[in-house]
Amino acid sequence: MNLCVLGAQWGDEGKGKIVDLLTPRFSIVARYQGGHNAGHTVYVSGKKFVLHLIPSGILHPGIVCVIGNGVVVDPVALFAELDDLASLGVEVGNRLLVSDKAHVILPYHRELDVLAEARRGEQKIGTTSRGIGPAYEDKIGRRGIRVGDLADQSADGPLAGAVRDNVDARNRLVGNGDLKWPDVLADLRRAWTRLRPLVTDTSLYLHRAVQAGKRVMFEGAQGTLLDIDHGTYPFVTSSNSTAGGAATGLGIGPREVGTVLGVAKAYTTRVGGGPLPTELFGEMGERLRETGQEYGASTGRPRRCGWYDAVAVRYAARVNGLHALAITKLDVLDGLGRLEICTAYRCGAETLTEMPSDLAQLSACEPIYETMPGWAQPTRGITDFANLPEAARRYIERLEETSGVPAAIISTGSDREHTILRSPFTTGN
Ligand code: GDP
Repeated sequence: MNLCVLGAQWGDEGKGKIVDLLTPRFSIVARYQGGHNAGHTVYVSGKKFVLHLIPSGILHPGIVCVIGNGVVVDPVALFAELDDLASLGVEVGNRLLVSDKAHVILPYHRELDVLAEARRGEQKIGTTSRGIGPAYEDKIGRRGIRVGDLADQSADGPLAGAVRDNVDARNRLVGNGDLKWPDVLADLRRAWTRLRPLVTDTSLYLHRAVQAGKRVMFEGAQGTLLDIDHGTYPFVTSSNSTAGGAATGLGIGPREVGTVLGVAKAYTTRVGGGPLPTELFGEMGERLRETGQEYGASTGRPRRCGWYDAVAVRYAARVNGLHALAITKLDVLDGLGRLEICTAYRCGAETLTEMPSDLAQLSACEPIYETMPGWAQPTRGITDFANLPEAARRYIERLEETSGVPAAIISTGSDREHTILRSPFTTGN
């Protein structure tokens, strides 16, 4: 059975560790959306790997990794990541495939990202300024340049025309003529020389692999509440990070997605702007940030921290059709006297048990908490559910009840070994 692993909160849930852990059960790991704004931190035998664009499956010899059509690719960032992996001794060879339909992030997309954020002022989204949003804008505006388009080597063919038109538009927007389209074209031609061996019709590749009985893991970036359609719009990312994105972002049928696993932290974090009903501003927020080392893997920005929001995770269970949850960072809660779970929102006179669509309403929501006892004994590194302190077991059970989804994986530390596996993951395959 194939498996889709995605974020059930606002991103940074620890998907990288879960994907890395499960990779040996699959032949292929495929990324379906986002760009190098994502940041997965994986520790293997104490060695730290930060992956942005390339699926973390690449750390496992023999695994093929796919960057799907739903991803936006900055060739400069991709090559930097490949060089980093090589310097850390990871042999990539022909194990990385890039969709010919993936859109290219051009140098001026980064500039436009910075300008758009500056224009938003107080309302800024807190993007990573890596050009992801503007690249998706060009895609939806039907003026984007796709990876496969770079094959056009003719002096005045479609690629040259598209680059000229796009750079002209950029110069009008930015209000100067600094960027010269032949320079951008020359960069893209250079990038193609290195990209070419990786580029293929990855939809067809995946179809054939599934037909041949190979198992695929689909890897989502960011999280459900950052999805362009189902997240806290406009404080969202520019792509579909929810399970539906796996089908459109890879060109596979929805039936091929298989089991859907939502990764959720045992508490809540978010980077950038936008509402976060359970946010903690005082000492407790600081305690979660420091113990959980809640600083962005891509940007180093401190993450906003708060108690577990069961309304948000229940919503994620619904829009993704989650079969199971992977609860991460349980150990971060070790030693707390009491824990709060937000089970509903109070909005004026109303009690909401479902995530509201309206941002103003969500911003006005106050969490309604249920208090649970904490635990004094450390959970760090525990690999058996029965060995967890009783209060920790009850906490996990409550997260299951409030989402209606079983916690099939519980992570008790950043290492691969620091994990409790439960059905259906108890066997090695
Ligand atoms: P991702 O983008 O969803 O993979 O999340 P990040 O990589 O940005 O953040 C997850 C961070 O938490 C990484 O530094 C992981 O090593 C770490 N991590 C993952 N699971 C656990 C856990 O169970 N306990 C602790 N203490 N750290 C964890």
